[in-house]
Amino acid sequence: MIDVINIRKDFSVLNTKIYGNPLIYLDNAATAQKPECVIQTVAELYRTANANIHRGVHFLSEQCTEKYEQAREKVRQFINAEKKSEIIFTSGTTGSINTVATSFGEQFVFEGDEIIVSEMEHHSNIVPWQMLCKRKNATIKIIPFDDKGVLRIDLLDSLINERTKIIAVTHASNVLGTINPVRQIIAKAHSYNIPVLVDGAQAVPHGNVDVCDLDCDFYTFSGHKIYAPTGIGVLYGKEKLLEQMPPYQGGGDMISTVTFEKTTYAQLPLKFEAGTLNFIDAIALGAAIDYINKTGRQNIIEYEHKLLDYATQKMSAVEGLKIYGEADEKVALVSFLLKDIHHLDTGMILDKKGIAVRTGTLCAEPLLTHFGKTGMVRASFVFYNTFDEIDILCENLKKISLMFK
Ligand code: PLP
Repeated sequence: MIDVINIRKDFSVLNTKIYGNPLIYLDNAATAQKPECVIQTVAELYRTANANIHRGVHFLSEQCTEKYEQAREKVRQFINAEKKSEIIFTSGTTGSINTVATSFGEQFVFEGDEIIVSEMEHHSNIVPWQMLCKRKNATIKIIPFDDKGVLRIDLLDSLINERTKIIAVTHASNVLGTINPVRQIIAKAHSYNIPVLVDGAQAVPHGNVDVCDLDCDFYTFSGHKIYAPTGIGVLYGKEKLLEQMPPYQGGGDMISTVTFEKTTYAQLPLKFEAGTLNFIDAIALGAAIDYINKTGRQNIIEYEHKLLDYATQKMSAVEGLKIYGEADEKVALVSFLLKDIHHLDTGMILDKKGIAVRTGTLCAEPLLTHFGKTGMVRASFVFYNTFDEIDILCENLKKISLMFK
């Protein structure tokens, strides 16, 4: 059970007033708020323990290194990876995907090869592959989705051929909310010996992710969307693949020995962690994971499902409101347009009432193009949101709908 009244006490930002109204924060898919324990972890580390990791023999350095490696173990358990060496800290989902596109691409993608992504990808899971294709003279192929926002995986067989080098697909869409059948996609890809990268930025905040069960080759997510600080994220990769890939960046910590003639690289995962990583925020990511585990992942899933069902039902009843994304399996977000009211107008009027929603392309222009739109409004919910907040959102949407008769 989620005790939302007590949970909200952990997120002091939720007490903020916006233009005199209580903040209703419905922009969680962009970034989630931070509980006090995460803020405290960061503050305490800077106050009492800050020292660069891995390179010192002194007390504080060793202490930070230990905490950093403990955070890696927490991440491993959180997504059920087999080995700690398969967990690489990055700057976020974008950093993780760029690491794979560059490093895997360098090793395995050549002229004439093909990469498959879906039509519902965030720009972060399109542009790095486009950049790779430009460098290597390769091409991108697209898995389309239908008008309900369901991926046409029935077309996968016709898209795959002997030149396909990797499939990169989102676990959950940041616009449609659709939870894709990634397990099925992975099984299909593996039957052709093709590895799969899963963008988990929107799935990890809302559910249990088990990379062993999925059997994915790469899995990526961002700390800031799961209540951790910004600037820290995770790349999971199967050891067998990561070992065959060259380092993404060169610098300190990722080497074994350096001479001007030849450099050898560190073992995994440090081979992919060049320079001074964001170790304080990695430790705070561990604190965020502790917080999620304490709240209960099953509790979170159940409560957010109820929020989504309630929001979908109430919002559908607002005259002239159209929801984009009607898949059976969704994470707790609703993208919509109200009559032919510009998305920015809707967003700005809601803002004046203290309601924070996201507007614009939602970093998924090809997805919006599918519907012939240049922008949408998105309300996204997590376990500190309430049913009352959804009521207030809907009351205001009704008023906006009347304003633009
Ligand atoms: N992928 C998806 C599905 C997202 O929703 C986002 C962010 O909204 C990203 C990737 C990029 O995440 P970040 O900006 O944290 O790297």
